[in-house]
Amino acid sequence: MKVLVINCGSSSLKYQLIDSDTEELLAKGLCERIAVDGRLTHTTTGKEKYTKDLPMPDHNAAVSYVLEALTDKETGAITDLSEIDAVGHRIVHGGEKFAKSVVITDEVIAAIEECNDLAPLHNPANLIGIRACQKLMPGVPNVGVFDTAFHQTMPDKAYIYGIPYEYYTDYKIRRYGFHGTSHSFVSKRTAELLGKNIEDTKIIVCHLGNGSSITAVKGGKSVDTTMGLTPLAGVIMGTRSGDIDPAIIEFLANKTGKNIEEINTILNKKSGVYGLSGGFSDFRDLGKGMEEGNDRCRLALDVFAYGVKKYIGAYAAAMGGVDAIAFTAGIGENNPYVRNLAMSDMEYMGITIDQEANKVMGDEKQISTPDSKVKVFVVPTNEELAIARETVALV
Ligand code: AMP
Repeated sequence: MKVLVINCGSSSLKYQLIDSDTEELLAKGLCERIAVDGRLTHTTTGKEKYTKDLPMPDHNAAVSYVLEALTDKETGAITDLSEIDAVGHRIVHGGEKFAKSVVITDEVIAAIEECNDLAPLHNPANLIGIRACQKLMPGVPNVGVFDTAFHQTMPDKAYIYGIPYEYYTDYKIRRYGFHGTSHSFVSKRTAELLGKNIEDTKIIVCHLGNGSSITAVKGGKSVDTTMGLTPLAGVIMGTRSGDIDPAIIEFLANKTGKNIEEINTILNKKSGVYGLSGGFSDFRDLGKGMEEGNDRCRLALDVFAYGVKKYIGAYAAAMGGVDAIAFTAGIGENNPYVRNLAMSDMEYMGITIDQEANKVMGDEKQISTPDSKVKVFVVPTNEELAIARETVALV
């Protein structure tokens, strides 16, 4: 089967065409600046990558260009749209309604819409992508794969906040967690690397990218995760604050005269390592800055790694032990310095890093010493492949 995987953002659309039989990537690309002007970057495997400026007034136009790019006689990956058997959509928020991926129906669309206020920037864009595919590829099944679904197994003690219970029953305010597709994919692979049945494992997955989250996966199920009602919670991130004392918001409002919306923007877009370092959100730039003696870059890296370390300790406690720790996503896969810092002085917990093995960037590898009781791995994530697998399983 050929599965088109679509990840719609508010002004962007990422896509991959995957042959699910061989799990081979046939083509991939990105539409950017949707509703601004429009740019498509496309690569068919084995052919040259190209970028084109194209008018994209909306996501329908973007999906049309994607389908044209995929079927282009010279640069495309397929000859006809009928070769696409199914479309898998990444959907950010499924609330408590979706604990699994689903085939999209009118009822499912209505239920996703009901979750819109939990992810106002993302869910509406995801729905636009679904509708565009329904319109342009009638008859082709669409599947929704939710970032939140994997975490629906958390026990109530892990997802309830210490605020009046009515806010949970009335407004569904609780911890949901995100990056679920990645945490699921990586924990399964980690269990394979351990050579164990996943039901018998306790794994901590550190998905460290521009957005970062850490999940405790016990017996293959998410039992706790760092992100919350929204992806702002947990460890500090590229530009997001992560956990802060909630009283800071009122304090900051009084000091600066800024309103809730402005403070929310600061916490989402101007905080994290960006805010600490004075403008660097990319960890490569932070590393370079630190090497050049920029102490705030050093501080940002220290705060980030310390946050990761604390959650590892917390989740080992939550699960009553840990068999393996997996590092994934841009930073987790490519940043030996951060991995080493987060894993330092943890021999008391049975974690010993092999400094030579930890030099790995981008490849799957065990980075703990052979005698380390807890195994530590770098496991590259592949959310698109995970979405394609879910899609095939459902259609
Ligand atoms: P993500 O959001 O998963 O794409 O991760 C973005 C972060 O990963 C950035 O801070 C990058 O510095 C880091 N990153 C991504 N790719 C690389 C790479 N090849 N080498 C070093 N760091 C990388």
